[in-house]
Amino acid sequence: MTFRATVLTLYPEMFPGPLGTSLAGRALGEVRWSLEARNIRDHAIDKHRTVDSTPAGGGAGMVLRCDVLAAALDAVADGRPMLAMTPRGAPLTQARVRALASGEGAIVLCGRFEGYDERIFEARDVEPVSIGDYVLSGGELGAMVLLDACVRLLPGVMGAPDSGKEESFESGLLEYPHYTRPVDWEGRTIPEVLRSGDHAKIAAWRHSMALRDTRLRRPDLFERRGGAQGSSPSGAQRED
Ligand code: SAH
Repeated sequence: MTFRATVLTLYPEMFPGPLGTSLAGRALGEVRWSLEARNIRDHAIDKHRTVDSTPAGGGAGMVLRCDVLAAALDAVADGRPMLAMTPRGAPLTQARVRALASGEGAIVLCGRFEGYDERIFEARDVEPVSIGDYVLSGGELGAMVLLDACVRLLPGVMGAPDSGKEESFESGLLEYPHYTRPVDWEGRTIPEVLRSGDHAKIAAWRHSMALRDTRLRRPDLFERRGGAQGSSPSGAQRED
């Protein structure tokens, strides 16, 4: 089964963009996933191909029209989840990405200007998704972020089948820090334990580093998993 991505955008020429390179690009070439970028403007109804209008109630900017958005969605709707990129959405998580990657694909709506007429969320089964607490100028980069995160999880895309297992967020923690050659660099050495060959000790050290960094950098994640609970020295267990 190929993961099928359909992106609805005013700037289809932005795709595949970075998704045509490296891991995602190779997977695209190998038809492990497909990508179609469609222009929302093709679904405009008037002769000027208008997609937006001024905000009801006043204020700056323009708003994407719900009739045009609905026509664009209806033209591709086929049971795949429909997501709309918006800072007003629920933040994207690795768990959501994993669920999407195990499905048939996704239809991703990209906003521009001030965003969408809210009625689209009432009239169609569209999930509002945010990629973080900041404001982009358009949903396209958000759609690329979402699709990149999904594609790397598809079967056969990542080199080693295990390379995703211990990663950040998979166990509710950030990943432990990595080191590689040279052993000595600017007077700094790779932690002794990593050179010990003692796999149990290495796993315990990595787990304690993951806990330390999560507590320092992401107290929100740390709290959510119940503080130091789960700090067993065996380390690499998945807890999702
Ligand atoms: N006025 C809106 C922001 C519009 S930004 C607000 O304050 O909520 C224009 C478009 O960029 C949005 O419709 C959305 O598609 C995209 N966008 C901006 N920030 C985003 C984010 N954090 N996550 C996902 N999409 C985002």
